[in-house]
Amino acid sequence: LVQGIGFRPFVYRLAMEKGITGWVKNSLTGVEIHAEGPYASVYSFVQEIPLKAPVAAIIESITPREAIPNGYADFSIHPSTQDVDQITLVSPDIAVCPDCLDDLKHQPHRLHYPFINCTNCGPRFSIIRSLPYDRVNTTMDVFAMCSRCAAEYGDISNRRFHAQPVACNDCGPTYQLYASGKIETRFEAILEKTVKLIEGGKVVALKGIGGFHLMCDALNSNAVETLRRNKLREKKPFAVMFRDIATLRKYALVNQEEEALLMSWRRPVVILPAIRDLAPGVSSGFPTVGAMLPYTPFHYLFFERTVLDAVVLTSGNFSDEPIVISNEEAIRLFGHWCGGVLVYNREIHNRNDDSVTMVINGKERMIRRSRGYAPLPVKIAANVEGIVAAGAELVNCFAAGRKNYVFLSQHIGDLKNFETYAFYRESLDRFLHLFRVRPRLIAADLHPDYLSTQYAIESGLPVVRIQHHHAHIASCMAENNVEEPVIGVAFDGTGLGDDGTIWGGEFMLCDFTGYRRITHLPYIALPGGDLVTHEPWRTALSMVLQITEDEDFIFRLPFLRKITPDTVRLVKAAVEKQINTPLSSSAGRWFDGVSALAGICTEAGFHAEAPMRLEAALDRGNAFAYPFAYEGHRIDLKEAVSAIIADSMVQGNGGRIATGFHNMLIGLIEKVVSEISEETGIRTVALSGGSFQNRYLSEQVENRLSQADFRVLIHRNVPCNDGGLALGQIMIAALKPGNQ
Ligand code: ZN
Ligand code: ZN
Ligand code: FE
Repeated sequence: LVQGIGFRPFVYRLAMEKGITGWVKNSLTGVEIHAEGPYASVYSFVQEIPLKAPVAAIIESITPREAIPNGYADFSIHPSTQDVDQITLVSPDIAVCPDCLDDLKHQPHRLHYPFINCTNCGPRFSIIRSLPYDRVNTTMDVFAMCSRCAAEYGDISNRRFHAQPVACNDCGPTYQLYASGKIETRFEAILEKTVKLIEGGKVVALKGIGGFHLMCDALNSNAVETLRRNKLREKKPFAVMFRDIATLRKYALVNQEEEALLMSWRRPVVILPAIRDLAPGVSSGFPTVGAMLPYTPFHYLFFERTVLDAVVLTSGNFSDEPIVISNEEAIRLFGHWCGGVLVYNREIHNRNDDSVTMVINGKERMIRRSRGYAPLPVKIAANVEGIVAAGAELVNCFAAGRKNYVFLSQHIGDLKNFETYAFYRESLDRFLHLFRVRPRLIAADLHPDYLSTQYAIESGLPVVRIQHHHAHIASCMAENNVEEPVIGVAFDGTGLGDDGTIWGGEFMLCDFTGYRRITHLPYIALPGGDLVTHEPWRTALSMVLQITEDEDFIFRLPFLRKITPDTVRLVKAAVEKQINTPLSSSAGRWFDGVSALAGICTEAGFHAEAPMRLEAALDRGNAFAYPFAYEGHRIDLKEAVSAIIADSMVQGNGGRIATGFHNMLIGLIEKVVSEISEETGIRTVALSGGSFQNRYLSEQVENRLSQADFRVLIHRNVPCNDGGLALGQIMIAALKPGNQ
């Protein structure tokens, strides 16, 4: 990524410094530089390019070649030529840089200017409408540069040379605070009032880079409760912004890789083990904290003025709806219950949530890929020109292909929500326009009810339908640039199988052209269908019914204590008569059922709560595992289920059950993979599906398989959950015979 981030001016300045003459220009594959000068100067020029390049630059390779000197007298930047076939990358939004933070204190026209930016930092994707990346094509177009900004913009030796969003106190966007029936426009007063509101325990809605945030003191229980109550049905842990890394270390364990991510210009939310309590409502009882550091000038200015260590900074939305981006909507939705609504008068064009990531075994694992990451593409070996992938339904991201780049969208969300589906369609249109994609084919999930599948069918393009777990494994293969057949382990919530049942605990032989389902976790009947994701006790009861139908025994089970006997009988009858009880081999449902049996989570308040709580309950130092059997490609867990039920009768056994179940799954995966490998000779394993967000499962499976000399492919920059599905869909569609 060397375009739209001030790379050519950087090369120019470095050339000046080294006394080099020649030119720099954008090319189809990156930039091309012609450098003339004494050998030592040219040598150190080339050496320093990757070391001193703008932070957001991604340099895959530098290929030096000797050239005939032309005797240039100076160094120049050749203008970009607009080529329709050219693939231009769009930079993600970049956290404010140290130089700008310094200017914030000293530069007269940018003193405390909260929209300060330069070629090394500031908004990018969130404000761009179309390419080329020029001010007129961004939401900065309504602001006319003042003479000072224009001079900096035009001065090649300046850090703000061609910085498209360049602005200052005289000419750029401004904040307005709506609080207690008044509108405050003086920035110093806004800052002071916001600090007072937050310190006073109020919630403030704050317009950020990619959308609104809701912010409150992370150590004030009442404030956090107010936020939870008003965010409606919101039970997920909240993300927290800490003053700085030193303060964060008081509250969480941070290793080297995690620190690098937290401090990077991408500024994601990183999930860390908590060591000191914030307000109890922040993490919803999980022993972790989703932490991030300040990334806009406003965040820094706020923490300069406040005594607080940390603030909750959660997406400004209601449950599954997309993050709010319009000022009017924010005032309407948040105005009546927030202490203040802080808006600014620049439009957000591309909605862009905070990204969420974590580190397992020293490697980054993306969970939600948005701000700071989108819309960077994944480079792959195949040509995917003109192929669109519609993605999944619940954790949707779509993708569009140009040559050997797959452009993955920002996190979209749950399409079943009406507003989110509108956001999906709008973003797809914008993406195709931005990256000049001429769609010729669309890939979609096998599931006919997914709104993404329906969108694909209604698009009028030829549709390629792709099995969910095949797409998961293909996504993992693509991210790792692997083409040869792999043993795929796809563990997730749900996905429709090609036999009409619901899959999700799959061992399959895969390449991009096909798959064979070798074995899978045992089926569980799901009484109530989709209802089981909210009521994991139903899945647990169904598991019990595989062992015994004795009602006296069933009514003594502790996990059913809160459920009325009539409801229990109804569900039991549904399972026996197979009424609305689809069969599922889903790992997510196994986690759900065991979590409920253990009495850890019988009713779920948010997606994947039961598996997450089961993981949180396990004892990492304990190797105890329930037994399993694997014979003739059939996994049998009856003995384990019986043992879990027996353990569930004894109070305080939640941790034991969680530990035993996790360790059993890890042993099972190792055993099944080893046997499939013996039968096929394949030594590469791909791990994908949302269950691999489970830190313990992911870490242990990877370690055990690596120790057994397997080549283990994991997701890093593409989510292992359904947010990464579109990448796999696009690859399978591209490599289908006839689609090339
Ligand atoms: Zn900057
Ligand atoms: Zn200005
Ligand atoms: Fe999935």
